[in-house]
Amino acid sequence: MHQVRITGSETTYNVGKIICLGRNYLDHIRELGNKVPDRAVLFCKPTTSLLENGGLIEIPSYSSNCHHELELALLVGRGGKNISQDTALSHLAGYGVAIDLTLRDLQDELKSKGLPWEIAKGFDTSCPLSDFVPVTAVDNPNNIQLTMTVNGELRQQGTTAQMMRSVEEIVAEISTYFTLEPGDIILTGTPAGVSRIVSGDKLQGDIEQVGSLQVTVA
Ligand code: MG
Repeated sequence: MHQVRITGSETTYNVGKIICLGRNYLDHIRELGNKVPDRAVLFCKPTTSLLENGGLIEIPSYSSNCHHELELALLVGRGGKNISQDTALSHLAGYGVAIDLTLRDLQDELKSKGLPWEIAKGFDTSCPLSDFVPVTAVDNPNNIQLTMTVNGELRQQGTTAQMMRSVEEIVAEISTYFTLEPGDIILTGTPAGVSRIVSGDKLQGDIEQVGSLQVTVA
């Protein structure tokens, strides 16, 4: 799955970069004991991390603590560099539901050594992703509800209104570091409630006006 679809249309995009924002919800920053960052905390996942709706998560054998992080995903439709906040939304083609799966034990070890997190964040199947709805389907991306359940039990509930950086600010800031291209995907961070998943768990992420994503842990 290196292509994504806009629902209700024939439009598809070849996925380019998958750029993820960390520490964008204060309650999640607090639950992990992190500091509020001045500059956006960014990392990338490879396209091989993508997992389609209904797919099977393969937790690598070198981790025993994989966490779910439910996130609003942005699909870039029109590229740009140094995009202004005023025009940021016009560069987006759609919104989707994503889970930023994280090997928390490995990430903690890497963080403590001051090393990059990529191997804790970018493993195969670490990025379950729904189809995208067109931007017109969402009234205000900075005020929609996110709900994550595991085996029907509520784990994460939040709203994008709690984001430290708005969708416009995220697109604008990222485009100062990386030229954005059509097909790039941005994950916007997760609210509190992240928790461990194990074999057999059924995950469901719902984002208001955007859709639903269901995946199972192998
Ligand atoms: Mg995340």
